[in-house]
This record gives sequence, C-alpha cells and structure tokens, in this order.
Amino acid sequence: APHRNRPGAHGRGAHDGAGDRALTLQAQGVTRSFGDTEVLHGIDLTLHRGEIVALVGRSGSGKSTLLNCIAGLDPGHGGSIEVHGSRAVAFQEPRLLPWRKVVANVSLNLDGPDPKSRARTALAEVGLDHRADAWPLTLSGGEAQRASLARALVRDPDLLLLDEPFGALDALTRLSAHDLLLRLWDAHRFTALLVTHDVEEAVALADRILVLENGSIAHDVSVPLPRPRSRAHPEAVALRELV
Ligand code: ADP
Ligand code: MG
Repeated sequence: APHRNRPGAHGRGAHDGAGDRALTLQAQGVTRSFGDTEVLHGIDLTLHRGEIVALVGRSGSGKSTLLNCIAGLDPGHGGSIEVHGSRAVAFQEPRLLPWRKVVANVSLNLDGPDPKSRARTALAEVGLDHRADAWPLTLSGGEAQRASLARALVRDPDLLLLDEPFGALDALTRLSAHDLLLRLWDAHRFTALLVTHDVEEAVALADRILVLENGSIAHDVSVPLPRPRSRAHPEAVALRELV
C-alpha cells in the first residue's frame, strides 16, 4: 500500500501487544458530565492507524461530546485519551471566517513554510482551486464543506475527526463528498473517526462501526464488505459528469 512519507508524524509509532498494528488513539474510561448528568459512562476506544471508524447513534447519545473530548476541545472529561500524532477536526458547519478569503481560512494558524501555497494545494486536492480567492459566503454548502476538509487536511493530521461533516448536504452532494473522503484517504491514509447518524453513510465509508447508546458503546461492528477504496465509486463518477 502506498504510504505517504511523513517524517516525524508518528515517531516510533505505538503498538498494541496483540496484533502489533500501530495505534492512533487509545481512550480508556472516558467520562463526561454536565452538572449532575453523566453523558459518557466510561468509553474505551482504540483506533488503529489508517482505520476509518464511524460513530453512530441517536441524537443526544453523546457522539459530539466524545468527539470533542478526543479532539482536545473539552478538558472537562474523565479517563485517559492518548493520541499518537496530530489531530484535525471538521464539523457539520464549515466554520469558515467570513471576513477571510477561502485560501486564508485554510492557511489560518498553519505552521511551517509557505502556508498559502500549501493551502492552495489542499484546495486543489478537494477540487476547489478555482475558489481559493473567493469569499466564504459565496460558496455553496458542498464547496464550504470541502474547504473545511482542506483546512483539516493541510495540517496533515494523523487523526481526522469528523462530526457529521456531510449532514447538511443534499443527497447528490453528499455522495460526491463520500467519494472525495475516500479519495483523500487513499492519498493520505489518515485515521478517521466519523460521527454520523446516517447508518448508510457509515456502511459506505467505515471499516468499523461503533454504536453509541446513552453514553456507552453498545456495539462495535466490523464492516465486512470490501470497498473500492483505491478508486472512486462508479455512481459518484457518473454523477460528477452530470452535476
Ligand atoms: P449527539 O452528538 O450524539 O447528538 P451530544 O454529545 O451533543 O449528542 O449531547 C449528549 C448529551 O449531552 C445531550 O443530552 C446534550 O444535551 C448534553 N450536552 C452536550 N453538551 C452540553 C453542554 N455543553 N452543556 C450541557 N449539556 C450538554
Ligand atoms: Mg452531535
């Protein structure tokens, strides 16, 4: 498999005893309470490098709470969360700053040399090079979500955290976005945790599906179907020609 050369990203890597597969995330006994209400009841979660894992569950089951804890955005949790490598997050709302051009949103707070040109490269990868100098408010929903993906991707994350990233898109745009995510995975081989309430989306994209029920992981299911990860979905290719 073509692995990208990412010096220093994983360091030595972490390995579990059993399979010697590199781990990206080890979470143990994660709890989170708001006031007197415990929303997460001690979540154990391990993600192996390169896995796409979907976290599904009803509204209010605690998906976003768990994702925010893993993203490092919520210091108020209990238990331990160990991430091997770097993280980037994309949310359902693209959260672009309207007073900065698209390329400046993507390069915002980006370390390293030549942030603008790396931002343009990331935008090209999501098919938005022609919108780099546009204002965010002129983007369609699908374009804004792709810009949000570019903003995450340009940070070269080992762990990509996605909270209902395609939830606000219409069905056709969502299908192209699925296709895009798989192509990006094919190029970068990040580990991804994808929060969604759409089980079909989970089956289409994930290697493994976790079902969160009332703050506990009730099921952890491997997706048996082999997917054509290395090429675009035929349906999406056909649709791209039409749309
Ligand atoms: P999901 O993403 O699965 O829809 P959330 O993680 O957003 O669920 O929410 C889980 C539960 O935690 C809900 O009952 C929600 O009201 C509650 N909750 C989430 N964030 C907060 C907060 N900042 N303050 C109080 N309650 C919260
Ligand atoms: Mg949520």
